[in-house]
Amino acid sequence: MIFVTGGAGYIGSHACVELINAGLDVTVFDNFCNSQPDVLTRVARITGKAPTLVQGDIRDSAALEAALRASGARAVIHFAGLKAVGESVQNPLAYYDNNVLGTLRLLQAMTKCDVKTLVFSSSATVYGDPQRLPLTEDHPLSATNPYGQSKLVIEEMLRDLHRSDPAWRISILRYFNPVGAHTSGLIGEDPQGTPNNLLPYVAQVAAGRRAFLNVWGNDYDTPDGTGVRDYIHVVDLALGHLKALQRLALHAECRAINLGTGVGYSVLGMLRAFEQASGKPVPYQVAPRRAGDIAACYADPSLALSLLGWRAERDLTAMCTDAWRWQSSEKG
Ligand code: NAD
Ligand code: UDP
Repeated sequence: MIFVTGGAGYIGSHACVELINAGLDVTVFDNFCNSQPDVLTRVARITGKAPTLVQGDIRDSAALEAALRASGARAVIHFAGLKAVGESVQNPLAYYDNNVLGTLRLLQAMTKCDVKTLVFSSSATVYGDPQRLPLTEDHPLSATNPYGQSKLVIEEMLRDLHRSDPAWRISILRYFNPVGAHTSGLIGEDPQGTPNNLLPYVAQVAAGRRAFLNVWGNDYDTPDGTGVRDYIHVVDLALGHLKALQRLALHAECRAINLGTGVGYSVLGMLRAFEQASGKPVPYQVAPRRAGDIAACYADPSLALSLLGWRAERDLTAMCTDAWRWQSSEKG
């Protein structure tokens, strides 16, 4: 049994599918602040098996501990958290409360239940403005906004915890830019309001829901002047969590591992790929740089290959085709 906080969310729901497909039982603990309960019905339609659902907030220690104990889980995957960079600048305390305090409460509940295996969702944002590319896990860490700072604090908390008790088994997965959706078209990213991220926005332009894409700057030091990122298919990302659990079953350690493809694509490169996959035009206008953006960010994913035997398999066409199928479904 695996206990999955935030399992109804974008990445968590895809991870639930892969966990169940691998024959594992799953309990999802989610407060639905950024997701809908019917996602789990969709997970059941894909896999033939529904995860057990407990609705609750990770900051509610009593509810969390009761759910973890009742689940009988021996490992936790911790996706629950807030993730909007701009919102974190406006309302930093909400990010420290949900992300940092929520994780602290989770670690306390795990300690009480003697569950010491954890896979944590970190982010490439902990590398700050890259000093060198591709990014390796030993690159210096820094934060440029409260969201990133919350991930950094949690990472430090996890390293301290492991130092204090080496029986803990912790995998800190630093995601690059997750995109795409399950090939069934039944689950995907469902942003509320105006999407902040590139691909959901592009998908809505292709679908005719928005007139054009704002390209935030074309004067970066990149091949076409637009920002370069390491986009990774969400199903590949989900599979990385399975591999992390498999490694933790054999190793008591606390390690940070990049999950990316190692390949960077520009904003205009993504736009063209999406036009091809969808067969729809994606008009755009060049706008000023977005505050806090960096020119380029992509992973060195070789540690994931050597430690986990994992590498991203799905290419840019699959990312765009699957995102478009989801966007074109009744839900997307
Ligand atoms: P998401 O918002 O789709 O999923 C998060 C889930 O957690 C939601 O279902 C939400 O309802 C739940 N949740 C939030 N706060 C909670 C709380 N206090 N108690 C219980 N449930 C709570 O986000 P996602 O894209 O699936 O991201 C999952 C994790 O991965 C997050 O920790 C995020 O910071 C991290 N991450 C995401 C990205 C990305 O681009 N999507 C990149 C790097 C890291
Ligand atoms: N971007 C853009 N227009 C948008 C959204 C994003 O030009 O409407 C650019 C952004 O400047 C960056 C890239 O797309 O270069 C990826 O942005 P996203 O917010 O998806 O990821 P992050 O910046 O967090 O890596």
